[in-house]
Amino acid sequence: MLERKAIPSLLGDSPLSAPSADEYRPIRMMPDLRVMKIGGQSVMDRGRAAVFPILKEILQAKEEGIQMMLMAGGGTRARHIYSIASSLDMPTGVLAKLGGYVAMQNARMLQMLLAKEGGVYMLADDLEKVPLYVRLGCIPVTSGMPPFEYWEKPTGLGNIPQHRTDAGTWLTAEVFGIKRCLFVKDEDGLFTDDPKKNPNAEFIPRISAAELIERDLVDVVVERVVIEYLQRAKHCTELQIVNGLKPGVLSAALRGEDVGTIIHR
Ligand code: ADP
Ligand code: MG
Repeated sequence: MLERKAIPSLLGDSPLSAPSADEYRPIRMMPDLRVMKIGGQSVMDRGRAAVFPILKEILQAKEEGIQMMLMAGGGTRARHIYSIASSLDMPTGVLAKLGGYVAMQNARMLQMLLAKEGGVYMLADDLEKVPLYVRLGCIPVTSGMPPFEYWEKPTGLGNIPQHRTDAGTWLTAEVFGIKRCLFVKDEDGLFTDDPKKNPNAEFIPRISAAELIERDLVDVVVERVVIEYLQRAKHCTELQIVNGLKPGVLSAALRGEDVGTIIHR
C-alpha cells in the first residue's frame, strides 16, 4: 500500500463530518463596530427623500465617534431580475448572482454620497480591510448580498435565494463579533402582520427567535433564514429593526438605544 504522509493534528483522522464540540469561543474581531443594512426596497428605492436624511444621521453619529459599516440591500430591481430570471427557468444560484449586482449598485451609490466624508466601497474579499478603513475614519460600504452566488444553497421552497442582503448583514456582524446588527427599513419594526397590508397588525417591540418561529407569522420583516441562524449565533444575538424614515430613530439606535424591534436569540 502507498504510505500516506501524516501531519499530526487533532483532526488528522477525521472526515470532519461528525459534530465537533460547540464549546469554541471565537474571537470578537470588531465588537464596537456598528454594522447596518440600508434597505433596498424600503429605503434606497425611495430615493433622496429617504436616503439623504438617513445619511445625515449616519454622519452625525460618525461625528460622535461611532464606527460604522454600511451594507446595501437590493430592492425592486432585484425583485425584477428574480422575476425575469425565474420566467427563464434560471437556477437559484443564477438568481443570487444576478440579484447581487443590484445590491452592489446601491452600495456604490451610498459610497459616492459619502465619498467626501470617507465613504469607501468594498468588495466582500476586502473584509480584512475594514479595521484599517475604520481606523482612518472611513465608512466602509458594501453589498449586503453574501457571496454565495452560484453556490447559493437550495431552499427547498421555490427558487428565490434565501440568503439575501439581510442574511449577508447578519453574517458580517456575526463574524466580526458584533452583538447587535441593525436593519434600517421603512416600518417601526416587526408587527404581527405586514403593516402595509393589514392596518390592524400589532407592533412587537421584543421577541425571541424561537418564539417568532413558533408564532409562524405569514410574513416577517427580515429574511426568515436570519431568524433561524440567530439561534446558532456565537456573537450576533440581536437583530434591531428600525424605521429609517422617522427622524432621530436611527440616531437613537446607533447610540445603543432599544428603539424599533429587537429580535434576540
Ligand atoms: P429591505 O428593503 O430591507 O429588503 P423589505 O422590503 O424586504 O426590506 O422588508 C421590509 C418590509 O417587510 C416592510 O416594508 C413591510 O412592509 C414588510 N413586512 C412583511 N411582514 C412584516 C411584519 N410582520 N412586520 C413588519 N413588516 C413586515
Ligand atoms: Mg428584503
